[in-house]
Amino acid sequence: MSATLARVVTADAPGKVNLILRVTGLDAQTGYHELLTVFHCLNLREVVRLSVRADEKVTVQTVPGPSFAGALPSGLDGPDNLAVRAVQSLRHYAQDQGKDAPGIDIHITKNIPVAGGMAGGSADACAALVAANELLGLNMNREELARFGVSIGADVPYGLWGEQSLGVGFGNDIRPLDAGPTRHWVFLSSSRGLSTPVVFGEYDRLELHNGFNEQRRSLEDKVLGALRGDNPILEVIENDLQAPALRLRPELEDVIAAAKEAGAVSAFVSGSGPTIAALCESEAAAKDLAATVASHPEVCEAIVATGPSGPARILAVDNEAPSERERT
Ligand code: ATP
Repeated sequence: MSATLARVVTADAPGKVNLILRVTGLDAQTGYHELLTVFHCLNLREVVRLSVRADEKVTVQTVPGPSFAGALPSGLDGPDNLAVRAVQSLRHYAQDQGKDAPGIDIHITKNIPVAGGMAGGSADACAALVAANELLGLNMNREELARFGVSIGADVPYGLWGEQSLGVGFGNDIRPLDAGPTRHWVFLSSSRGLSTPVVFGEYDRLELHNGFNEQRRSLEDKVLGALRGDNPILEVIENDLQAPALRLRPELEDVIAAAKEAGAVSAFVSGSGPTIAALCESEAAAKDLAATVASHPEVCEAIVATGPSGPARILAVDNEAPSERERT
C-alpha cells in the first residue's frame, strides 16, 4: 500500500424524491423499465466511512443515524449491501489496473428509511464509490464513477450530480436541472418496506403502459417547461408507481389524505413507496404537519427535510486508522 494514500475516507450522498416518475419503456429482454424522472435530492444524507484493513477482506457495519427512528432490518451487514458492491467494483478495477486494492471496512450511518422509495441503499453505494475512488487513488471523474454506479443500480448515479436532475432511460443518462428554490418536505415512513421490483411487477400486471415510447419526447418538454415556470413543482409532480404501490398497500391512501388534511400542498408516494412525501409551504408548515401526522397508525416516522441538496462529497480524509472506539 502506497504511503501517500489515505487510510480513512468519509463521504456522504443524498437521498431523493422523484418529482415526476413516468415509465417510458420496457426492455423486453431484461424486463427493466425505462424511466423519465426528476431526481430532487434531499438533505437526508447517508454517511459512509471507509477504512483500510491490513488484510484483503471487505466488511460492512450499518448503524442508525440521527434521523432514523425505526429499527434497522437485518441483512444489511453482508456482501449484498450495495455499498459493498460499490467498493468491490472499484477494488476489482484497481486490481485490473495493477494498483493496490487493500481490504476495506465500511461503516454506514443510515438516515434514509430502508426500502422506502428514497434510494437509501443507492445513496450508500454512491457515497461508497466517491470514498473508494479517493481511498484507492483512482482519480475517476463523475462520468466514470456513474458507469460503475449504474451497474449497481439505476438510482446510484443521480447522487453524483446532486441538486435536481432529469433522469432519462435506465439511470445512465443524468441531465442537471436548475436547483430552483428550497422546498420543504415531510417524509412519512412506514414500518414495513416495499420492494421496488415487486412494485414494478404490479405496474406490469396492471398493464398501465400503453404506447409509452411516443410520450417520452413530449414529457421531457413538459417537465423542462414546467420547471422553468413560476409555480412549477405542482405541475411536475406525477408518479406512475403510485397506483401499483397503493394497490399493494391500500392503507397508504389514508396517509396521503391525512397529510393533505394537515396542510400539505401535495402528498404522494415517494418513488416506489411506501414512504409518502408531503410537500409543504414553509419550514413551519412542515414541522406542524410532522407533529400532526406522526401519530397516524400507519406512520412510523415523520421526517422533516429540505431539497434540493448537493452532490455526494468527501467529508474527511485521514491518514490514521480509526481507534477501536470510533470503529463502533
Ligand atoms: P429505490 O428508491 O432506489 O428504489 P429504496 O429506497 O426503496 O430504493 P433501499 O433502501 O435502497 O430501497 O433498499 C432496497 C433493498 O436493498 C433493501 O430491502 C435491502 O435488502 C437492500 N439493500 C442493500 N444494501 C442496502 C443498504 N446499504 N441500505 C439499504 N438497503 C440495502
